[in-house]
Amino acid sequence: METSFKRAYNFNAGPAALPLTVLQKAQAELLDFSDTGMSIMEHSHRGKDYEAVHNQAIELLKELLAMPSGYDVLFLQGGASLQFAMLPMNFLPAGKKAGYVMTGVWSEKAYKEAERLGQVFVAASAQEGNYRRIPAAQELQYDASTAYLHITSNNTIYGTEWQEFPDTGAVPLVADMSSDILSRPFDVSKFALIYAGAQKNLGPSGVTVVIIRRDFLEQADKNLPTMLKYGTFAKDNSMYNTPPTFSIYMVKLMLEWVKDQGGLTALYRRNQDKAALLYDAIDASHGFYTGHAQPEARSLMNVTFRLPSPELEKKFLDQAKKEGFVGLSGHRSVGGCRASTYNAVPIESCQALQAMMLAFQQANA
Ligand SMILES: *Cc1c(COP(=O)(O)O)cnc(C)c1O
Repeated sequence: METSFKRAYNFNAGPAALPLTVLQKAQAELLDFSDTGMSIMEHSHRGKDYEAVHNQAIELLKELLAMPSGYDVLFLQGGASLQFAMLPMNFLPAGKKAGYVMTGVWSEKAYKEAERLGQVFVAASAQEGNYRRIPAAQELQYDASTAYLHITSNNTIYGTEWQEFPDTGAVPLVADMSSDILSRPFDVSKFALIYAGAQKNLGPSGVTVVIIRRDFLEQADKNLPTMLKYGTFAKDNSMYNTPPTFSIYMVKLMLEWVKDQGGLTALYRRNQDKAALLYDAIDASHGFYTGHAQPEARSLMNVTFRLPSPELEKKFLDQAKKEGFVGLSGHRSVGGCRASTYNAVPIESCQALQAMMLAFQQANA
């Protein structure tokens, strides 16, 4: 669709880009949802119009992820950050220990929160060298009594991503997939619980998606405040209290868009092409650009790189800003630059950034 305004080249880490057609659909329906004379925001969460949106979002997510039966999709609030605490509250009983694989700041935060609530241990760590890699499956140290093993599938800040998920057998595997869910196909059946704040790959902020296996859910601590029990959300289809209806509506539009694009296989291919444009520019730069992640751990969602000096990094970011690029500053714990290339970032944005990187190198190397 033609626009009368210029869309930014949005590489924000989160909240992040949304597809233009999703925004346009939301705009077209904003004042009058489905001939009801009301915005979806004004509908009761107990009414049939909203309920249909809510259930469609759940069904679409199940379909797109080819989710086996026996899993529930829940909509929570509090972001992925609340999950750091809610997970151990529900699944880390006294006398058991939970294992954490440390692959960045978000894993550290998840670990620290669990440490306040129960016994935890580091099952493997990539901290040495400032989180450039993902530990190999053989490095993971845990035993059969482990309450659960927690991983961060994509490390938003460092730009590393698990390429293959470990097989943990009877030990429940839990993943924070906030920054790469829906970016590629994967086997949901490996996981007991998956959580993701929506604002990177699923929609706007305000809702957190949890995918939970029912037999795991049955083991949860029953003696918790109502709103901190996963069971509360599972029992009432995430409508025990008022869910974040507009955020969930936006997630539904986003999931429809993913389906229209051809689903996860098609998006995976496109995400590989997008990231390759930037990694190729790094690799062909003869060291002008250096990637933070080891090549075999590179993320398709967050491309992190440095320039030869802080002065050149500042100049690069200033020039990028002038040319309409948004969100390219690296996180303070890595520095340098980061381009987040989530599902909704069009390939044209990556092509433009690649061209800008090449031109900048030519002018400044
Ligand atoms: C952004 C992010 C978080 C934090 O999410 P909130 O919804 O802001 O709490 C946690 N984990 C990962 C991997 C993230 O990328």
